[in-house]
Amino acid sequence: MNENDKSQRHAERMARKKAVIDEKIEAADIDRGIMLVLTGNGKGKSSSAFGMLGRALGHGMQVGVAQFIKNRSDTGEEAFFRQQPGVQWHVLGDGFTWDTQNLAQDIATAKRGWAVARDLLQDPSLGLVVLDELTYPLAYGWLEMEEVLADLAARPAMQHVVITGRAAPQALCDAADTVTELRDVKHAFRAGVRAQKGVDL
Ligand code: ATP
Ligand code: MG
Repeated sequence: MNENDKSQRHAERMARKKAVIDEKIEAADIDRGIMLVLTGNGKGKSSSAFGMLGRALGHGMQVGVAQFIKNRSDTGEEAFFRQQPGVQWHVLGDGFTWDTQNLAQDIATAKRGWAVARDLLQDPSLGLVVLDELTYPLAYGWLEMEEVLADLAARPAMQHVVITGRAAPQALCDAADTVTELRDVKHAFRAGVRAQKGVDL
């Protein structure tokens, strides 16, 4: 086959591909708030959620963040996003359960946290809400799944919600529109590299 034939065949293949893709794009004509779950053991769940936060702000939307489990407020994302107008940021955890070593306290903290998250989910001015590490209080049974799913379902019709954390319970994934599982292929931590500013926090 000469170069001319090759490029002719390539053009035909791409035209067929474009027709298929255009048809799919045309068929997706619904606008509504999306519920996303980012789970799995691989790195990139929270940073992906914060990437969407930046996108939403770029479009002039107002956004809310509720961070469960975590009790640190020295992350780059918090420092950056708190400076932006239109951001509500709540750090609601008091550390991992092996740090607190107090079940009753963990449950009480999670319930207080959910009350704050529910306020975000009831605020029609917020176009995107990130519920970071919400999978843990759900997986541990510190929050009632039915209650959380009901509050998520009752949010404003155009509000997007992004939920992160490992081991997302099946019921949460079932309720979501988009679910991504990040796979851990390799992580620098296992080679002894500590968390790096700008990459990990
Ligand atoms: P990130 O915030 O970097 O997107 P994540 O939200 O996917 O990470 P978390 O479980 O919240 O992951 O963990 C946050 C911290 O743990 C980050 O410093 C991250 O680099 C690190 N981390 C994430 N996955 C792994 C892993 N598989 N092994 C070791 N450390 C990890
Ligand atoms: Mg995370």
